[in-house]
Amino acid sequence: MRQQFASDNNAGMCPEALEAFLAANADGHTVGYGDDAWTAKACDLVRALFERDCEVFFVFNGTAANALALAQLCKPWDAVIAHAESHVETDEAGAPGFFAGGAKIAIAATPLAKLTPPAVEALAGQGRGVHSVRPRVLSLTQATEMGTVYTPDELAALSLAARRHGLAVHMDGARFANAVAALDCSPADLSWRAGVDVLCFGGVKNGLAAGEAVLFFDKEQARAFEWRVKQAGQLNSKMRLVTAPWVGLLQGGAWLRNARHANAMARRLWDAIAQVPGIAAMAPVESNGVFATLDAAVQERLRARGWRFYPWGENGCRLMCAWDTPPETVDRFAADLVAEQL
Ligand SMILES: *Cc1c(COP(=O)(O)O)cnc(C)c1O
Repeated sequence: MRQQFASDNNAGMCPEALEAFLAANADGHTVGYGDDAWTAKACDLVRALFERDCEVFFVFNGTAANALALAQLCKPWDAVIAHAESHVETDEAGAPGFFAGGAKIAIAATPLAKLTPPAVEALAGQGRGVHSVRPRVLSLTQATEMGTVYTPDELAALSLAARRHGLAVHMDGARFANAVAALDCSPADLSWRAGVDVLCFGGVKNGLAAGEAVLFFDKEQARAFEWRVKQAGQLNSKMRLVTAPWVGLLQGGAWLRNARHANAMARRLWDAIAQVPGIAAMAPVESNGVFATLDAAVQERLRARGWRFYPWGENGCRLMCAWDTPPETVDRFAADLVAEQL
């Protein structure tokens, strides 16, 4: 199938991940459940990348990573503060509340899918004692569901607001690599140094087949997390076949090259269509997605030409680029869009 703009998870595995997968498979029989050399190596690479001796777990997908991480930080009567557009609120079928035994998500619909300290403070201060849920966690998505990014300073201000209210800070980093690439700063600067306690570090949209990492920067907070993972059916018995691709992704820097490429393709796409009449940015293009207004009839005609992408809101669309999106595909799409819109 040709490359599309529907989602960065429509892409397959990147060569570096696939080679490591084949190498791990060729190793023959290896002990299961993560007690193997590939998994040890993947964890070491994550710790080196984050410049921190953190606890690292691997689960099958992003929903499990987020839901189990939040459940670890919440009691059943607690609340997680998140954005109205956040994946934990809109795309996880209630998994965080389910795994946390009843915890709720409290949302704010601030612009550009980015939470602000005042919005967090307002939600954190709403409690009515024993009668309402108790905000306990702030969940931030980096890069956000609209492709925007939080700078280290913005993260620090949000963490400070969280701390003032006794909230732990969780980060949904399904596109964390894209944010690192966009801001050109270190993974540590965008996570624990900015006050993040737990990071769900996404590999799938970055070039893996399965397996997201959950990083606890404070080891105490990870206590007994392996039981939570196992009970949820998220402990892979053939763990090496998930962690070897992580080694492939991290070892030679493919994770960052992949993210930089995806971001560059979104930038290229936006540069090619920004001047077309009727098109306006719904959010600045800061990572690997373009969010723009586009007449519904034009969207339909583009789909009739074989293009795939999601609508966004009333009169907009979401165009995601992946690690393998070729510039030629971007240019062909842009040319078709220009032809249909003019
Ligand atoms: C893709 C994505 C996830 C992970 O989703 P799964 O389908 O459960 O792997 C999590 N958060 C965000 C913001 C995403 O875009």
